[in-house]
Amino acid sequence: MAEIHPSAHRQRIDIVSIFPGFFDGFLSHGVVARAAARGLVELRVHDLREFTHDAHRTVDDRPFGGGEGMVLKPEPLAEALDSLGVLPASQRDPQSRESVILLAAQGERFTQTVARELAGLERIVLLCGRYEGIDDRIRQLYCDRELSIGDYVLSGGELPAAVVADAVVRLIPGVLGNAASAAYESFGLEDSTMDLLAENDTEGGLHNPVQRSQVPRSQHGSGGLLDYPHFTRPAEFRGLHVPQALLSGDHQAIRRWRREQQLATTLRNRPDLLEAATLSEEDRQTLVRLRQS
Ligand code: SAM
Repeated sequence: MAEIHPSAHRQRIDIVSIFPGFFDGFLSHGVVARAAARGLVELRVHDLREFTHDAHRTVDDRPFGGGEGMVLKPEPLAEALDSLGVLPASQRDPQSRESVILLAAQGERFTQTVARELAGLERIVLLCGRYEGIDDRIRQLYCDRELSIGDYVLSGGELPAAVVADAVVRLIPGVLGNAASAAYESFGLEDSTMDLLAENDTEGGLHNPVQRSQVPRSQHGSGGLLDYPHFTRPAEFRGLHVPQALLSGDHQAIRRWRREQQLATTLRNRPDLLEAATLSEEDRQTLVRLRQS
């Protein structure tokens, strides 16, 4: 087993679902599986039907007031949470670094900012709804947060729970190669925040001045912008050539090209992000030029 990152905290993520097998693939691949194997996160999936007491292991019932569909009953959910040692929100220590989250289309939008907040906690509990959703008293009693992964309705909270867990796990210190990795991605942090992260990054990537100056990515981390395009070999593919700047070996030219691409992509696909982005004077001039072209 690999060594645990010195600045890492171990996070625990509990997922409550009627389809625990849904998460088998998610838990056994890529970054999440490696983070678990390295002891940086403990991910547990709990079968809601384990907390029923009838022969049919019933988890749902008809809605009061009539209407379509079924609703997840409160008793199994409450028992599941009790078994995990989760207190009702009103009895939880306000300083506790845990969050009980209901995945819901009606929830607050899940963003990279929320993912960063959650990555700083010791424990998150994710409740997956099904059918028309869960009995609202569980939300009232236990949940301090409702998260939606987007403005569409899915059949259950399992995909959203996997989305939230994946986005959070890769932000836990030590999970990615070094602290800068996440800062340079889409929606990444600006340079000052990255410097704070670097103080905790003892794997050397950012402390080593040579290595840092050799990272020709952008001047501000992503600063809230979208990522730039990536290319690998071959240099020519079906008549399309890798941009000359990337082949030049000139780090300043590469940095400028990548920053311009970040600005162009953000302007094209998500202009709303530009308002909150960290922009230099050079960035602003580039944007004026891009808007005119
Ligand atoms: N009656 C609900 C409504 O109109 O919003 C839809 C329920 S949906 C069919 C079943 C479950 O899927 C929800 O309880 C929730 O856990 C999950 N779900 C569906 N869409 C979601 C989204 N966009 N984000 C997070 N969870 C979602």
